[in-house]
Amino acid sequence: MRILLVEDDEVLRDGIVAGLGLDGFDVDPVATLAEARAVATGDHAGIVLDIGLPDGSGLDLLAEWRRAGSTTPVLLLTARNLISDRVDGLDRGADDYLGKPFDLSELAARLRAILRRASGRASGDLTLGALTISEARRSVALNGAEIAVSRREFAILHALAEQPGRVLSRSQLEDRIYGWQEEIESNAVEVHIHKLRAKLGRERIETVRGEGYRMAAS
Ligand code: CA
Repeated sequence: MRILLVEDDEVLRDGIVAGLGLDGFDVDPVATLAEARAVATGDHAGIVLDIGLPDGSGLDLLAEWRRAGSTTPVLLLTARNLISDRVDGLDRGADDYLGKPFDLSELAARLRAILRRASGRASGDLTLGALTISEARRSVALNGAEIAVSRREFAILHALAEQPGRVLSRSQLEDRIYGWQEEIESNAVEVHIHKLRAKLGRERIETVRGEGYRMAAS
């Protein structure tokens, strides 16, 4: 899942990019409000937003996004003792906050939780017939037996399984598996789908000609 990160502290920024990367997130990092404003928030599943930024407050940016109708889940990074920032942030439309310093595994778990709530689910497991997908463990099981999938295969399968029956285009799937810095290989989505079908059964992922792919409903 692609995440936008707005954080001006370079060491922390690099640490979050690497740490969330290990948890299966693709993080697109920016350092200022101006850079963040240039990004379309709809491209990302969620946003991690620092409050103290060199060109202003993250809280103002959050308020701008919400006024513009963006519903993308936002997790604020706040200074440890500033309760007023947290209250203000939640009131302006943040979905959660985490006080600095924090543990990267907690940041990842909180992100999974707000993304899950945004998609209307209470549990971290997706079940579709005989197929179970665990977000936290990034594992896939078929009839209870674990199936090894690569990070990108998992991202594609998760995107399709979140809304069974909904068609996702190749470019929507590319958005889910590539960050800004990565060059997109031209037939990567097809290759991942091919491998997923070999592992899970051909009928599970349907091709909708001229449109894209969808998960079979059961
Ligand atoms: Ca800062």
